Amino acid sequence: MQRARLPEPCWNEAVSLTELDRVGARIEACVRCPRLVAWRTEAAARPPERYAGEAYWARPVPGFGDPRARIFVLGLATAAHGGNRTGRAFTGNPTASLLMRALHRAGLADRPVSEHAGDGLRLHRTWLASAVRCAPPANRPSPAERDNCLPYLSAEVAALEDLRVIVCLGGFAWQAALHWAGVRRKPKFAHGGEHRLGNGLVLLGSYHPSPRNVHTGLLTEPMLDEVFAQARRLGGLA
Ligand code: SF4
Repeated sequence: MQRARLPEPCWNEAVSLTELDRVGARIEACVRCPRLVAWRTEAAARPPERYAGEAYWARPVPGFGDPRARIFVLGLATAAHGGNRTGRAFTGNPTASLLMRALHRAGLADRPVSEHAGDGLRLHRTWLASAVRCAPPANRPSPAERDNCLPYLSAEVAALEDLRVIVCLGGFAWQAALHWAGVRRKPKFAHGGEHRLGNGLVLLGSYHPSPRNVHTGLLTEPMLDEVFAQARRLGGLA
């Protein structure tokens, strides 16, 4: 797929980050889930060999991106050796690599890689975060931990005044967003599936860009491209 041309101006440096900064500071200080506080610390203390000696973030990870975001990309949870290591959502692991290539092709990121918090990556009209901001054991947060964390989704959505669409990466994020929005008869998750919320936002489902989903052929890069083209249309960016 040919990369979409970025409209001008690409980035809005003038928008105040104050409210998002305040939300981010609250997230970073959160210790609401004892099991996840222990796990994010444990993961940092016992890194795999390739990250040995690195100073881990080992705290909750706030959202990251453009304060004028039309598109919110919602993941499952912070990765133990991705965001929990770098301090930035969707950074420094294979899932981040796949996602960032797709965002770049869609004209929503200024580069196809997301390696560390100081790499200068800038997103266009896009915000990245996970439903659960701390790394959970086996990548499986409990329903209570999800519920503890959803107020942070509310706070970021409230601060992102231009938001129109939430791309839910995988069934967990889809269910979390429906739960967050108070939807009683929950529509089934589907890649490319849409659900319009009462508050004007649209949920859009996508298979999670995990190495497993890619290796099994459940998700291909063209399929991700289609979802982000759909997100751009829903976000009025097409
Ligand atoms: S998962 Fe969310 S609510 Fe739980 S400790 Fe981390 S930031 Fe706080």
